[in-house]
Amino acid sequence: MKLIFLGPPGAGKGTQASRIEAAYEIPQLSTGDMLRTAVAAGTDIGKQAKDIMARGDLVPDEVVVSIISERIQAADCANGFILDGFPRNLSQARELDSVLVEKSIDLDAVIELAVDPEILIARILKRAQETAGGPRDDDTEEALEHRLRVYEEQTAPVADFYAEKGILRTLDGMQEIDDVTRQIRSALDSI
Ligand code: ADP
Repeated sequence: MKLIFLGPPGAGKGTQASRIEAAYEIPQLSTGDMLRTAVAAGTDIGKQAKDIMARGDLVPDEVVVSIISERIQAADCANGFILDGFPRNLSQARELDSVLVEKSIDLDAVIELAVDPEILIARILKRAQETAGGPRDDDTEEALEHRLRVYEEQTAPVADFYAEKGILRTLDGMQEIDDVTRQIRSALDSI
């Protein structure tokens, strides 16, 4: 099963992706987690990404495209994968498309979790308070508002891109966590 999880910050992509990862035995590939690991390790990519991420902007396309293109060809992705946080703009979506065509990989579905903006802000501020080891650099109210704007302007059009391909499934991300998981599983089981 080759999947993309789409949705604004705080929509629950990460939570749901780790449940689907366990249920379907396919790895969750979170560009946000990969970049945070690079920042923590102080690699060249990490140094390049640190300030961009802290203010809630997108790191350059070529950085994430090259990370993901390489990662989806690893042995553990042979059965499938979940892209979480990628693609995040139309140019990333188009680049991903050409990598997939070149490798003869077909996406099965793009799962979009829809959540109202007021709920997102409350969820993320709560998560920031509860995070062990302190909040993320980009979980301040200012960076958060910027992330939501970036989502609306740059990432929301990605949903239309996949709707045109007929593989977009938009689900209600405002239900209880278990109910959202049930919706996702039933959408995937009907593919
Ligand atoms: P969230 O969706 O909750 O904001 P993520 O962990 O997915 O958090 O991403 C955190 C940050 O990492 C983003 O604000 C951005 O700076 C960077 N990032 C993650 N994925 C991408 C991507 N595909 N393209 C560019 N930047 C990215």
